[in-house]
Amino acid sequence: MESSNDDSFFSNSSLATDADEAENVDPNVPEHRFNIKKHTTKTGKNKGQVRTLVTLTIPPYSFKKKRVNKGNTVTFSCNGCDKLDTPNYALAASVADDTGNEVFKLKSWPLKHACSPSSTDHIVRDFRSTLYAMVHKNPTRPVPSIFDEVREQITSKLTPEEKLAFLTEAPTFDEMKCNPWLLV
Ligand SMILES: [Zn+2]
Repeated sequence: MESSNDDSFFSNSSLATDADEAENVDPNVPEHRFNIKKHTTKTGKNKGQVRTLVTLTIPPYSFKKKRVNKGNTVTFSCNGCDKLDTPNYALAASVADDTGNEVFKLKSWPLKHACSPSSTDHIVRDFRSTLYAMVHKNPTRPVPSIFDEVREQITSKLTPEEKLAFLTEAPTFDEMKCNPWLLV
């Protein structure tokens, strides 16, 4: 593998995070990725506190962390199925890597979904959350330039078909501008 940034997009061979060596990869495990983002609280009584936000993507489905169970497993629930009131869960084991960072291993995942996200739904989600993180990290930088950079960064990792679908579906800057969180 020549590029191995932790923000690299899916390829058929990427089954887990980079921290996870490809040992005994079960061919039945679906393509997936755990997205780990650190968020520093900027204001209020928890100022300076670093929170780790973990989400799981099993294209085209996106999951959010639901709860931590006994025995260090973590339950994730499908966002699309949640909206339809038909909760659907994936389970991952949480382990520490050599450097003490928390990494996840997918243990089980739903085979059926009530939801049917579009093929690029997870990419649009990633775009939004990357944009959100960048805007918060660079509060003095003009949002339009961050918007263009993130879009460029995301599309550069897509196949031509994915890129076309993504650009058709991704919100434009004008659409996002109306989104209050961008102005926070
Ligand atoms: Zn679902």
